[in-house]
Amino acid sequence: MCRKEYPGKALVWRCECGGYLEVAEVPAFVPSAIQTLPSLWRYRRLLPPLPEEATVSMMEGWTPLVRVPLSAGEVSCKMDFLLPTGSYKDRGATLLVSYLKAAGAPHVHDDSSGNAGAALAGYCARAGIPCDLYIPAHASGGKLAQIQAYGARLVPVPGPREEAKKASMADAASFYASHNWHPLFFEGVKTYAWEVWEQLGRAAPDHVVVPCGYGSLVIGAYRGFKALRDAGEIDRLPRIFAVQASACSPVYQAFAQGAGDVVPVTPGTTLAEGIASGSPLRGREILEAVRATDGAVVTVTEDEIVRALRLLARRGMFVEPTAAAAPAAADRLLREGRLRAADETVVVLTGNGLKAWEKIRPLLEGGVS
Ligand SMILES: [Zn+2]
Repeated sequence: MCRKEYPGKALVWRCECGGYLEVAEVPAFVPSAIQTLPSLWRYRRLLPPLPEEATVSMMEGWTPLVRVPLSAGEVSCKMDFLLPTGSYKDRGATLLVSYLKAAGAPHVHDDSSGNAGAALAGYCARAGIPCDLYIPAHASGGKLAQIQAYGARLVPVPGPREEAKKASMADAASFYASHNWHPLFFEGVKTYAWEVWEQLGRAAPDHVVVPCGYGSLVIGAYRGFKALRDAGEIDRLPRIFAVQASACSPVYQAFAQGAGDVVPVTPGTTLAEGIASGSPLRGREILEAVRATDGAVVTVTEDEIVRALRLLARRGMFVEPTAAAAPAAADRLLREGRLRAADETVVVLTGNGLKAWEKIRPLLEGGVS
């Protein structure tokens, strides 16, 4: 990074040097600054400052933390698939779109595997900001319908996820409100770590297991819990386990090889469309977060994803295949003894099953094994 600074209200998504931006000054964590609001905006004073009158919110956040028995032990599930647009991406979208509104963005665009696009479309609808979204043509129908219903212009792009990114980056007609580039999106996602800490009685869990594509949940957990440790609220960081699909695992490969950065791959086909990212922008930071917490990057097979999806549904939780990757990994780690059943393991459930019902229905034949 070149350390060039831009004013907080500037409409920029990356540095002139081509690097990604970070928020220059994030407030230190002080528990007394937490407000009583049942929304992630309870942490407003602990987040990068945004003008209150420009806030674009649907009272997102403060999702339940629910005990769920998997086949090899119990975990606590963070129910982020219950957020307003049906995925954890609302945490980033509420900050990003509030910033867009404050900065007076007249028209924006982004690319997404689906959920971030739906989140951005929903929050832009609420803010009255026109929005174009480049989405892989093979994305789940529910996500495409959602984006159109919110009034955004949907641009389906054939081919892998990277093609949608290329088309979006070539669009110079409006501001690139990229959830993968813009630092405020990551600042919003980290609030789930603070909620978990509050919900566990102001304690850190032993382990956090999250799906990993571009890594916002990994980086969010790391930054969120690190802020708590820096403030003396917790003694140690939870181990962070990042989960990828076997069919697309560039971060896993870098981790397994002891590499410092991620080498891009061509994604294979996987049900976990939300993490089929061949070239994560912040690969280096994802690897650092996992290593600094003594965690790991693990992969799950398509069979494991389907088994976890069915198991969760039989516990009353209907999540999309991408979301099932995390409990699938947690169950295997428990079975292998890499996680202990007596430990507090938090698994983030990221996306609602209703978004992908067409893809899920054929997976249910044969019942639960
Ligand atoms: Zn720079």
